[in-house]
Amino acid sequence: MSTVQREMERNPLTIDLLDALDAQLEGKAFDFVVDDAVFQAIDGLVTKGTVHAHVVCKKARQAVYVFDVHSEGTVCVPCDRCLADVELRIDTTDELTVRLGDTYEDDGDVLTVPEQEGLLDISLPVYEFVVLNMPIRRIHEPGKCDNAMMEVFDGHQAARSSREGGEEDDSADDCGDGDYGTS
Ligand SMILES: [Zn+2]
Repeated sequence: MSTVQREMERNPLTIDLLDALDAQLEGKAFDFVVDDAVFQAIDGLVTKGTVHAHVVCKKARQAVYVFDVHSEGTVCVPCDRCLADVELRIDTTDELTVRLGDTYEDDGDVLTVPEQEGLLDISLPVYEFVVLNMPIRRIHEPGKCDNAMMEVFDGHQAARSSREGGEEDDSADDCGDGDYGTS
């Protein structure tokens, strides 16, 4: 078993850029599943999720690679309002440009992968595409916020309003003010 094969087995979310000659990589397609474990390892905004990434190499010339990355699935992020997980549907196609260089570097437009390794880890680019394509306001549908969580965070308010009506009408109104879901 070669070093590269072992590496791929350890981390199945990689494309070996040195595996084939440039021209042979062109047109090749790869499928990945970015799952809970990956999102938790990245430890960013996304708490969990399952995103299928279909990656097509559309250009591979002189150590520069251009991929189309289609990311589709669902991810959970904290609701802006109640902080409980809200599930978002992801369906986006983005272009990823990669080049071989000395050290790993992500300048936002081009991802540089160390020439020595030649392995493109797809998990971080997919994560970034997912985050970039989220709606700006990430909240539950009206009435779906986690009331228990809200009570914890609004504890001081709850104590102040001395149980006159009982219902939390205020929160319901705020949730349904029409900002939801404009993506
Ligand atoms: Zn919520």
